Amino acid sequence: MGDGKRDSDRRIGRRALLIGGAAAAVGTGVLARDELARLYWRLPGVRKQRVEGAVDFLGARWVAASEANFRWADRPDDYGIDMVVVHVTQGDLDSAVKAFEDPGHRAAAHYIVGKDGRVTQMIRELDVAYHAGNRAYNERSVGIEHEGFVDRPQDFTDAMYAASARLTAAICRRYDIAVDREHVIGHVEVPGTDHTDPGEHWDWDRYLRLVREARAAAS
Ligand SMILES: [Zn+2]
Repeated sequence: MGDGKRDSDRRIGRRALLIGGAAAAVGTGVLARDELARLYWRLPGVRKQRVEGAVDFLGARWVAASEANFRWADRPDDYGIDMVVVHVTQGDLDSAVKAFEDPGHRAAAHYIVGKDGRVTQMIRELDVAYHAGNRAYNERSVGIEHEGFVDRPQDFTDAMYAASARLTAAICRRYDIAVDREHVIGHVEVPGTDHTDPGEHWDWDRYLRLVREARAAAS
């Protein structure tokens, strides 16, 4: 894009400013490198260099969500990731993709898994997606939507369970997240939510078993 150069100039400026300020505050000028990185990436408007169209899950299709539906970040350096939140779209795949592309929607998840097992990534795991309706949970989690309706168990296909389990297994491996119901939760379990997804027809026992199998197979 045309403003790429201006972005990188600004990044260098911010970095120089922060290093100067942090050194002065500490006095000795000694700051652990990772601590400095943490402070640096928390500055508003600063973001890590990204590769256009890159995905975090091999084989995922990339469709960019509107920037209004997430916050740029540099996880796990600025915020640790210790949770996966499972959602159901209450609609089909195309309408979910369109909603996440719409700046007026004000919400989006990192991934959508289709009934056919196809995985679409719309927000990088680096970034904080607005999917849980709870700021702290958004910052610490990766959100996965599933195409379908909570009251239609037939929407949760074998292909969907298998693909989603591989995706969650990869996330858990990447951030060293335990595969259990404390760390792989439903939207309904997020404090303060009025959402009920993934609903009573989502088979948690089956899902966690598949995630564990996928994780064991890849390690
Ligand atoms: Zn949800």
